[in-house]
Formats: sequence, structure tokens, C-alpha cells
Amino acid sequence: MLSELLSVVQVSGQTVLKLVPISIGLGIAFGVLTHWSACNPGRPWWRKRELATDILYWFLIPLAARFVRIGLMVMGAAMLFNIHGSEALIAFYDDGFGPLAVMPLWAQALTFLVVSDFLTYWIHRGFHGAKMWKYHAVHHSSEELDWISAARFHPVNIFLGTVLVDVALLLAGISPNVMLWVGPFTTTTSAMVHANLNWTFGPFKYVLASPVFHRWHHTAADRGGSSNFAGTFPIWDLLFGTFYMPEKELPDAYGIADQSFPEGFGGQMLYPFRHLIEE
Ligand SMILES: [Zn+2]
Ligand SMILES: [Zn+2]
Repeated sequence: MLSELLSVVQVSGQTVLKLVPISIGLGIAFGVLTHWSACNPGRPWWRKRELATDILYWFLIPLAARFVRIGLMVMGAAMLFNIHGSEALIAFYDDGFGPLAVMPLWAQALTFLVVSDFLTYWIHRGFHGAKMWKYHAVHHSSEELDWISAARFHPVNIFLGTVLVDVALLLAGISPNVMLWVGPFTTTTSAMVHANLNWTFGPFKYVLASPVFHRWHHTAADRGGSSNFAGTFPIWDLLFGTFYMPEKELPDAYGIADQSFPEGFGGQMLYPFRHLIEE
């Protein structure tokens, strides 16, 4: 029991330590870039009102996602392939399996990015529906939107929106080694699309999600809030009629309508269940 506890502490420490230099790098880069190319005037990210809350999300959400991902990978291998025990699991997940794992690693990484982006596009639209909104409202609650807000997700949102899709693709045979490329790529792009930058990517705006593209998604539902659901590739929004990037206009007001939305981390964790407590 003690050794299991110690390994949980060790894995947690490793995850957080790996994030520290990346976070410092992103913080400096977006601080400098925003100085030149801000989308909206205002305070720099390090003087945001809800900075402490965002920092908690920034470190805790990847940690929670990692443990849930490992748990689901173990469960999935046991239930679908009858694989049990740590050695058999390590061998099973070592380098993928089946037809997908035959492709070169870069092609597997690209497949992973495109398929997971397509699936999360539809899951994201589901989270904007009446039943699921209370979980996703946490992500939309940032009024001073900046790169550090990128990890502000309720665990239910992360679990159903990202982790489940990741595990499904690994169980389809894609090599877990793609994560060496995909992980840093998604961390950087998700921080970038939330950053306070006026970048539209010009003619490439249909190819890759830009800060202006995603910041529109964080505006009110009658502006851009019911558009731009894609995480990485705006092609899904173009195909399914939800693309919104008006010419010569920048998004400028973010957040949600609920004035009673809590500011702290704990209150936000309980927010989707609040009606259960209050009734
Ligand atoms: Zn959304
Ligand atoms: Zn967002």
C-alpha cells in the first residue's frame, strides 16, 4: 500500500515538474507577444483577477487526466482484450498494434490529431447543449481570457471530452509513443488559442485554429459563442456550418451570463452539482 502511495506521489511530482519549465516558457512568450499584438487592451496575464484559480487548474487538470487515462487504459485492455497484469499491459501498449501501428509514427500522430479533433468537435457541441452546459460553463467562465485559462475545465468535461477520446484511439491500436509529439503540440496550441493575441492566421485561418478564432468561441452565444467548436482544425466548423470569423472585427467580451458563478476552484468544482445541494 505504502509503495503504491509513493508511486502516485512520484508520478504526480514528475507530471508537475515537467509542466513547470513549459509553463514558464509559455508565460514569457505570451507575455512578450501580447505586449505587441494584444487582441484586447487590459492587464497582463500575471495580474489577472482569477490567476490563482487558473494556476490550480493548470497543474491539477493534467494530473487528474493522467491518472484517469491510465485507469481507463487498464480497464479497456482488460475488458476488450482480456489483458491483465502490469507486464502484459506494458507489452500490449508498448508500440501500438494492428493496422494503425504499421504506419510511420508521424502518420499515426497526424491520424490521432485529426480523428480526435473530429470527435472532440462533436463532444464540444454536446457540451453546449442544455444538459451538459453546466460542466462546460466552467471553461467559459474566464472573463479575462488568456493562455493560462486554457486548462480551466471541469473534470467531467476533461474526462468525456479528451481522456475518453485519447484512450479510444490507443485502444484502436495507435502507438502511445505518438503522445511524445501530440502532448506538447496540444498543450502549446491550446495555450496559444486562448492567449490575448490578435492573430487570425490570415489565409490559413481555415487550416489551424487561431487566437481570434477561439476567442470568438468564448464570446456570448448570440455573437461567436455558438460557433468555432474545433480545437485544432477549423475545417470541422467550415464543414458543419459553425465557422465564425467576421472581417475587421475582434472578439472583445468573454464569460458566461450566470452572475452567481463562483470565483474559486472549489466552488467551480461543485458548480454543476449546485442545484442538487440547494434543492
Ligand atoms: Zn465551448
Ligand atoms: Zn476555450
